[in-house]
Amino acid sequence: MSLSYIDGKYAPVSECRLPVTDMAIQRGVAVFEAIRIYDGKLFGMDMHLERFAESARRAGISAEKIFPQLPEVIEGGLRMEGCPAEGLVRPYITGGDINNKGSFPEPRFFVLFGGINKTPDEERRRGAVLEPNRMERPYPLCKSINYLFALIPLGGDKVNHESLYMPDGEITEAMTNNFFLCKDGKIVTAPVGRVLDGVTRSVVLTLARENGFSIEERCPREEELAQADEAFITGTVNEVLSVVRVGDTMIGSGRPGPVAAHLYRLFLSNMGRWLSA
Ligand SMILES: *Cc1c(COP(=O)(O)O)cnc(C)c1O
Repeated sequence: MSLSYIDGKYAPVSECRLPVTDMAIQRGVAVFEAIRIYDGKLFGMDMHLERFAESARRAGISAEKIFPQLPEVIEGGLRMEGCPAEGLVRPYITGGDINNKGSFPEPRFFVLFGGINKTPDEERRRGAVLEPNRMERPYPLCKSINYLFALIPLGGDKVNHESLYMPDGEITEAMTNNFFLCKDGKIVTAPVGRVLDGVTRSVVLTLARENGFSIEERCPREEELAQADEAFITGTVNEVLSVVRVGDTMIGSGRPGPVAAHLYRLFLSNMGRWLSA
């Protein structure tokens, strides 16, 4: 990753710096987006920008001066040398130096343009393993930079893909992915509001509906895992990825299933509908 934008100009990432007095560092106050670049084009840009504004609003960050600049800054970066044709654009809005008891009137803004660690083929073939996380993800509609409480349950174990929030046995979402369970031809996933409004979630649900899948928007219960036919997660980096185990519970045959494979094929073949011109 080598390109960034901060303080009105593009610069190598090594020159993109935040003062240690920023509330991002002092109090963990910052929101961000990760937008996929496919073949030099942005995926789901409008949905990302809408969610970004919602995140800032929920975090108490006054970002109305930043949002009008965003499309131009991001599209400008895509055309610069150093921006990969396949990768991620990550815009951040931080709390800045002033904290008026939960209102942040002078935010900072920067953007990182970089490559991506794609899901390894081996993990796609085998399917992902998730580690249970018994807590609730607070403020689900806010995509904040704070992933600490989703990382702690992993404890350095390399087998786990990421952790899965399941407070009181209600499965909500994974660390950076939405979660789906399949049973008897039905797809079950937590409703937006209990979870982040994932751009990939929304696209995959649209494709699933168009292709005759029936969908239930409710939190799958932990007890349903062992009886499920299959499970998968969706997110900007992983796209559609089968889940074959949660903690000690094997799902279905313990191998990636046909529904996730079908939806992943649909995602790849329809992706152009959500790419910027
Ligand atoms: C980013 C993220 C997702 C997935 O959203 P996409 O827009 O599909 O990448 C889901 N849950 C959480 C907590 C996230 O941070």
